[in-house]
Amino acid sequence: MNQKEYLQEVSDFFAPGNRLDSYFDKYEYRPEQQEMSVKIAEVFSKKEHLLVEAGTGTGKSLAYLVPSILMALKEEEKVIISTNTINLQEQLIKKDIPLLQEIFNLDFKAVLVKGRKNYICIRRLVQFGKSAQLDNQGYNTLSKVHNWVLETETGCRSDLDFRVDYNIWDNISSESDLCLRAACPYYEQCHFIFARDEAQEADILVVNHHILFADLSLRQERGLEGENAVLPPYKQVIFDEAHNIEEVATSYLGFRVNRRGVIKLVESLYNFDQQTGILLQTRAAISSLKRNVKQNLQQNIDNKLVPLVRKVNDLSHSLFNNLIKFIDNKTKGRDRKLRLLESIRAEDYWQDNLMIEFENLLINLNDLGKNLSELLEDVISYEDEIDEIDAVKLELKAKVESILKVGADIAELVNFPEEDYVYWLEGYDEDCSLHSAPINIAQQLQDNLLGKMDSVVLTSATLTVDKSFEFIKDNLGLIEEDVETLEVGSPFDYRNQLCLGVAKDLPQPNHPAFIDAVIASVKEIIQATKGRTLVLFTSYGMLNKVYNSLETQLDSLEVNNIYCQGMKSRQYLVEEFKNKKKAVLLGTSSFWEGVDIPGEELSCVVIAKLPFVVPSEPVISAKLEKLEAASQNSFMKYMVPKAVIKFKQGFGRLIRTKEDKGWIVILDNRVITKRYGKIFLKSLPSGCNILTDNLNSLTDKIRASI
Ligand code: SF4
Repeated sequence: MNQKEYLQEVSDFFAPGNRLDSYFDKYEYRPEQQEMSVKIAEVFSKKEHLLVEAGTGTGKSLAYLVPSILMALKEEEKVIISTNTINLQEQLIKKDIPLLQEIFNLDFKAVLVKGRKNYICIRRLVQFGKSAQLDNQGYNTLSKVHNWVLETETGCRSDLDFRVDYNIWDNISSESDLCLRAACPYYEQCHFIFARDEAQEADILVVNHHILFADLSLRQERGLEGENAVLPPYKQVIFDEAHNIEEVATSYLGFRVNRRGVIKLVESLYNFDQQTGILLQTRAAISSLKRNVKQNLQQNIDNKLVPLVRKVNDLSHSLFNNLIKFIDNKTKGRDRKLRLLESIRAEDYWQDNLMIEFENLLINLNDLGKNLSELLEDVISYEDEIDEIDAVKLELKAKVESILKVGADIAELVNFPEEDYVYWLEGYDEDCSLHSAPINIAQQLQDNLLGKMDSVVLTSATLTVDKSFEFIKDNLGLIEEDVETLEVGSPFDYRNQLCLGVAKDLPQPNHPAFIDAVIASVKEIIQATKGRTLVLFTSYGMLNKVYNSLETQLDSLEVNNIYCQGMKSRQYLVEEFKNKKKAVLLGTSSFWEGVDIPGEELSCVVIAKLPFVVPSEPVISAKLEKLEAASQNSFMKYMVPKAVIKFKQGFGRLIRTKEDKGWIVILDNRVITKRYGKIFLKSLPSGCNILTDNLNSLTDKIRASI
């Protein structure tokens, strides 16, 4: 198939009277879908990048799958489809791709790639069974896992029908650094290896953003290719739900060192309470060596390594305890995130106490890594004389790398902070963690993704702000001439399907009376709608206050149930809300997106407050400072566009099909009183009816229309 035929085939697929049309009894031709699909085919052909905003209801998954499948078959190259949510991955794998397989009647293969740690490692399971010191419940679980392994078809944690504690799963799951690959006695039965081979053979790989960025960051960090990389080679990537990329990429391009992780690492070398660990395994493995060699190595373990493990353990506990107190003191127990500004680093306590503890830990971590590395070299030099040495070698090598990585991360944070990175501490309960993240991901995305791929397509229903792609382009480093853009509208008739009301008589959100006004307004609205309402908040504090006030008045409010984020999983709450008539759902953060409730069960969405990010969050505050330092207005340049994108996500919860109708009510009147408020309203789909009125009048209108 040449380029021209390829483009024609993509276009024809959606055309009336053609493939898709003849498959369905009632086919609804959507020109927006066809336009998007053809554009993707064009950028694939020209090896360019594309940003495409496709309004809700466009049918964007088919729009990108069709050119992707045809391109993968034509060029015999894999195309990656990356999404942010499991719901969308399941929709692609269980619904959209099987549909296309049937319509196309083509021989193509699509695979859902899960993270490696989702799979059981039979070798580690057997090893753990021999050495673990568990309580009765732990042994019971382990025995169930052994039985499950004999039956499972996937070896995936999600297929377990009983609970396995993370501490156990962590010791028996597949890990790249601990995999013997072809030398493994269980290689032929290994579920992960089977899944990896399936991925090698596939044309389309469906992944989540985390796996894709894990792959990119491993390739960058260690130059991994081939079987050590997370994914097989690829040159085309489609990002759906692309508005989330900034957060995911930021988390993968930095580091996180936490107390639990460090202690777990140290205990995996030698656990004094349980008398387990790789040092004991090594000690046992070398027992077959000649007496003097064995004695030398064992003395090395007993007299050098074991005391070093104890020391690193003690120093880590002491340092993290003092860091928790320091964070508490500095944040006064509030959000418990402490950005490491120069002023903090210059404080006496940091300089005279914490720095000394950090340095002490670093010296001993370094010593431990060095001695462990020497032990590994010794073991390798006698490997012909030691039985079952492969697993010991691998474990030692992985531990050396982990210890050196922890040391390097801590050293970077305390001694060699990078200019374009932000560093901070977090302390929750007993745990404490050290973090780094790039302030701007643009350059790294350019170097590791955009510069390396033939085509990257980023799509979402919410990429533009005030009809412009400028914000996302700036943020992701998409240089003007390298990227094409396309905005396709929604096929929904927003003028007739939706009314957007702005309550003008509420106090401003920073006024002390705002929260009570929100509580009263939500009550009034849900009385008018008889439930069927989703209320979106920006903080748990406000959500809980509203919930506490509503839950005591179910009868007077004439609603059956009020579901509040945190009661159960999001999926459970959404399903309950759908199934129960006259229910109310209250949510924050993740409820602004991905909640899909078609039909009259959801007839009203209330936006309590404009969803600005918290400016004091370490990464956000560093971004804002950087913009200000470059003489830019950080509020208009970052805070507003970021909030607009989230606002559009919230807006998108209401109308999910052409039959849906309802109201969106905004209780934050800054959309009409502030200059920047216009940007929020102008960013919504064209044709929305916007009513600005007192809340009473709005609820009268809602009551009359619903
Ligand atoms: S091949 Fe690797 S992942 Fe599979 S059982 Fe062996 S060590 Fe574990």
